[in-house]
This record gives sequence, C-alpha cells and structure tokens, in this order.
Amino acid sequence: MQIDIATLFPDMCEAVLSESIVGRARKAGHITVNCHNIRDYTLDKHRRVDDVPYGGGRGMVMQADPIYRCWEAICKDRTEKPHAIYLSPKGAVLTQKRAMELSKMNELFLLCGHYEGIDQRVLDEIIDEEISIGDYVLTGGELPALVLTDTIARMCPGVLPESVCFEEESHYGGLLEYPHYTRPEIWHDTTVPPVLLSGHHKNIADWRFAQSLEVTKEKRPDLYEDYIDKI
Ligand code: SAM
Repeated sequence: MQIDIATLFPDMCEAVLSESIVGRARKAGHITVNCHNIRDYTLDKHRRVDDVPYGGGRGMVMQADPIYRCWEAICKDRTEKPHAIYLSPKGAVLTQKRAMELSKMNELFLLCGHYEGIDQRVLDEIIDEEISIGDYVLTGGELPALVLTDTIARMCPGVLPESVCFEEESHYGGLLEYPHYTRPEIWHDTTVPPVLLSGHHKNIADWRFAQSLEVTKEKRPDLYEDYIDKI
C-alpha cells in the first residue's frame, strides 16, 4: 500500500506518521506514506496557494493549479492512477467497512483542504471520492487524512501481527468489543469476572460474545438493531 498525502502542513503529518505502529510499519516497509507540500507546486513568486472566493464572502479558497501540479507529479511514472480522496466535511462519513475496502487498494492519494476549501474545478477533475471523519468541521484536512491513514494502515498485511488483531475489534463484525481486564485480579475491591480466570476457552469466547451484544445494545442501539436484523 502506498499513500500520498497532499497538504500545506507536511511536518504536522510526518510528526504523527513517524510514531507508534504506523511509524514502525513505514520503517519496516509494510506501507509507504509520503507527505507532499502543495506549496512546493505553486508558480507564485510569494508561494501563495490561495485566493479570495469568486462571488465574494469571507475566507480564502485553495487554488486549483498547485494542487493539480502536485497530483501530476505524484502520478508521473505510475502505471496506475492512485484512487484520489478529498477529506471533506461534505463527504460520506468514514466507516470501518469503507476503510477495509480502501486497505485493499494499492495506491491512495489523500488531499487535505484548508481555509474555506478548494476550487471545485480541480476536485471535479481529479477526485474519485470525498470522505468525512464526522459531522463537524475542522480547520484542515490533515487530522482527517491521518485518521484515515491510521485506520487503513492497521489493516494492511504485516502492520499488525495477525489479522485477528483488527478482525475481533469493535465495528469490524458489526458489534462493539467486550470489556478487557488485566492484573491485578482484585483492584479497588472489584474482581475480574471469574470466567476469564477459568482457562476454559469456549466459555470465555461465549462470555465475550454475550458481553459484545450487551455493550452494543446499551451504547449503540442502532448498530445492535442492524446486527440482529442481519442474522
Ligand atoms: N467551508 C467548508 C464547509 O463548510 O464545508 C469547510 C472547510 S474546513 C474549515 C477546511 C478543510 O478542513 C476542508 O477543506 C477539509 O479538507 C477539512 N475538513 C474539515 N472538517 C472535516 C471533516 N469533518 N472531515 C474531513 N475533512 C474535514
């Protein structure tokens, strides 16, 4: 998997992408993530990449040309055009299912907007899909691009030790995960559920599944109803 992020703040992205599991996966070569500074592609002598909106109104709009030139540079020498995603509050809200589908693609291009947004013409020309990370507005597309990269990366082969590491977690199978416990056995007068100390694998699996159902029903009745409808 290769992910190319086009942004005005590559250092902000690199700071996150160099750490923890994604940072290790990059170093080990399980995934490639490159951050491109859109400002490097402007022809403006002051390195400007934005201008006032036609029609008036507040704020600035990112210009089409630097983004298009960045996209062209990324696509140069590729046999296949990367699947291009614009992180936008107007996009479809990200789900585990969509992240899973995207993790199976070879090359992704993530475009981060800023200010009021991006000139629509370049979006119409290069973007395949718009993704939102939730129904609220952020100052820029960097955090959404990092969220998307993180959730995709952890489902790429080699990034986590085994696929069960993500398959058994919340959302993957439609339910939320069961609660976890670790040492000590008694903490603040509360004991770990006895079944988890039994060593009986079938009983533990049954308990965890029952807990998953209960937790989902309580916290996300919408997911619970969907799950029940499908079985
Ligand atoms: N004027 C835009 C609107 O009302 O739809 C909001 C622009 S926002 C201030 C600047 C940039 O942040 C957007 O171009 C987008 O890339 C990013 N962004 C903000 N909220 C987002 C969200 N919920 N999901 C994904 N990207 C978001």
